[in-house]
Amino acid sequence: MAPGVDGLPAAEREVDVSGPVAEFLRSLSPAVLLRLRLGLRAFEWLPFPWRFSRLGTAAAGEFLSKLERSRLALHHELLMMAKILSTLGYAVVPAVEARIGTEIGCALADGSLPEPAGSLGDTRPQGEGEECDVVIVGSGAGGAVAAATLAEAGLDVLVLEAGGRYDRDDYPADRLEAIATLYREAGLTIAAGSPPIPVPVAKAVGGTTVINSGTCFRAPDRILESWRQEFGVTWARELDADYAEAEEFLRVTQLDPERMGRNGQLAMEGAEALGASGAPIHRNAGNCVQCSSCPFGCAIDAKRGMHVSYLPRAVAAGARVRAGVEAQRVLVEGGRAVGVACSAREESGRQRPYAVRARQAVIAGGGAFGTPELLLRSGLGGPQVGRNLRVHPACWVGARYEEEVRGWEGVMQSYYVDQWEADRRVLLEATFTPLAFGGAWLAGTGEEHQRSILDFGHVGSIGVHLCDRSRGSVGLANEGALRARYGLTDDDARHVVFGIARAAEIHFAAGAAEVYPNIPRAGILRPGDLPLFEATRFKPSELRLEAFHPMGTARISADPRRGVCAADGSVNGTAGLYVADASLFPTSVGVNPMMTIIAFARQISRAVATGAADRPGRSSAGAAEAVA
Ligand SMILES: Cc1cc2nc3c(=O)[nH]c(=O)nc-3n(C[C@H](O)[C@H](O)[C@H](O)COP(=O)(O)OP(=O)(O)OC[C@H]3O[C@@H](n4cnc5c(N)ncnc54)[C@H](O)[C@@H]3O)c2cc1C
Ligand code: SF4
Repeated sequence: MAPGVDGLPAAEREVDVSGPVAEFLRSLSPAVLLRLRLGLRAFEWLPFPWRFSRLGTAAAGEFLSKLERSRLALHHELLMMAKILSTLGYAVVPAVEARIGTEIGCALADGSLPEPAGSLGDTRPQGEGEECDVVIVGSGAGGAVAAATLAEAGLDVLVLEAGGRYDRDDYPADRLEAIATLYREAGLTIAAGSPPIPVPVAKAVGGTTVINSGTCFRAPDRILESWRQEFGVTWARELDADYAEAEEFLRVTQLDPERMGRNGQLAMEGAEALGASGAPIHRNAGNCVQCSSCPFGCAIDAKRGMHVSYLPRAVAAGARVRAGVEAQRVLVEGGRAVGVACSAREESGRQRPYAVRARQAVIAGGGAFGTPELLLRSGLGGPQVGRNLRVHPACWVGARYEEEVRGWEGVMQSYYVDQWEADRRVLLEATFTPLAFGGAWLAGTGEEHQRSILDFGHVGSIGVHLCDRSRGSVGLANEGALRARYGLTDDDARHVVFGIARAAEIHFAAGAAEVYPNIPRAGILRPGDLPLFEATRFKPSELRLEAFHPMGTARISADPRRGVCAADGSVNGTAGLYVADASLFPTSVGVNPMMTIIAFARQISRAVATGAADRPGRSSAGAAEAVA
């Protein structure tokens, strides 16, 4: 895949890529590994009667460019899979980074180190199980905030997290190892469909906030109003105080255009030249200046993910956090959730049973994949569990500039353009992903792809996010593994293409020489190509998408036939069982969701505290008042 050009080393001949990637893939579950193996085998035999791995350099290069020109969706899917895996391994090779000149160094503008976060205490599971008032499954944006809110209300809270506990003292320095360690299925959770869409989520104490970009948005009023009117989320327009509290606690600040990096500045200049509305993004990372490496965990914890913000706050209020504990099933007695049966990972790697009894409530905060998975395994929540998956399909639109952009010297997600957010459902965000993630989306294959990699310092990029109406689902396969599917509609595909055209327009207005729309049939766009591009009808399968915001799989709906939870987050049909995470969203939220998940978790926690105060037991009498 990487034959070596102009000082970039050849994969395998000069630098080992397949070895580290094979090691990386060891962290996958058997079910996902099997699917990947089938895909790789299909790729290997695609040049039948020859095998890809036995082709010489020239023949392999020719074969890859043939695949890239192919009209068959399957060819593109297999090519993309091979490109993603090989670029992942190749991009983190020190000799490659040295040749391109990428330097990763997290820092604050004044050179200081962020103050240390409070302690999480002993996160090892204790004995064969524990008791508490409220057990929370998952420690991400929803679970962590619910834990802090309820612990501060005087309830005895236990948080269970399937992933491990990491912070700036121990994130794996090796980037492949970091992905394998911090992400569920090493980031290879993919929603099957046409096109298939990678939807990575984290598996770590702090959830996906450990590896996210720190972008903070409030939900658009019109979305919240539709949730109130159409889904009975009666409090949807009353989130201002919760947003404000979280913004203050997470020290959310708007980026200074001087410090956001050239990638964001180019998007800003292009948007301003077109008169398109936008602004520097608000983030929870204070005055950090570098370095576009948020998806590996912030080496200085400048970004206030849940593991360095709400979870220490919960622990300070008496909550316990247990890492490496996966909830398998909700325990129900007499129609009421009373705890969770779990599997706990010991330091040796051995799994052992672990049971938690909850006197007051069980809260599922496992995210839009983990929560329906738990409910399905438990047979709870009714037929809507796992349905209505929305993901914000996203597309990377790169461009080549004559000037040096050096996108890694700036904030990863830096400037948004919301000109087309309300009427065309498209939000643009200048986003510069590290080469390990973004490299696969660069143009070309073989030598051509390597030249694109060499040119990475001249690449600017804008992410296109769609507020989707298409739907998917999350289910359990026969062997019990998670299965996600997503069906992009023609209409949504047209909106994505519209967004790609607008991103291209911004790039050109900022001085880009060429734009990569990430649709193989469209090739490379040059100034003047946009009218023809926009007049072309592309099938959904022709788009190359990824997505970072799964939501909606246990949604709130006043009509139980259309959802899983009531407006207070309680799961239909089971008393004492709640959801507090992205699964609750009735539809796509349209902007980066973390802050709205936090606001929802605050609301649901209040309902839980009220329910707890109404029940006999250990809970503090003033719980409801304390969180009101
Ligand atoms: C690369 C990337 C960048 C992003 N950038 C942004 C951004 O800049 N701004 C933004 O607003 N959003 C961003 N997001 C999305 C955002 O981080 C998530 O939407 C949000 O964290 C979801 O919160 P959650 O509580 O629903 O789930 P998560 O934060 O995913 O947390 C769920 C946790 O539950 C655990 N869990 C699941 N099942 C179980 C179980 N059975 N037992 C025990 N534990 C379990 C998981 O391991 C996980 O740690 C990004 C996402 C990605 C992937
Ligand atoms: S860009 Fe991300 S990883 Fe780098 S210092 Fe800032 S928050 Fe940390």
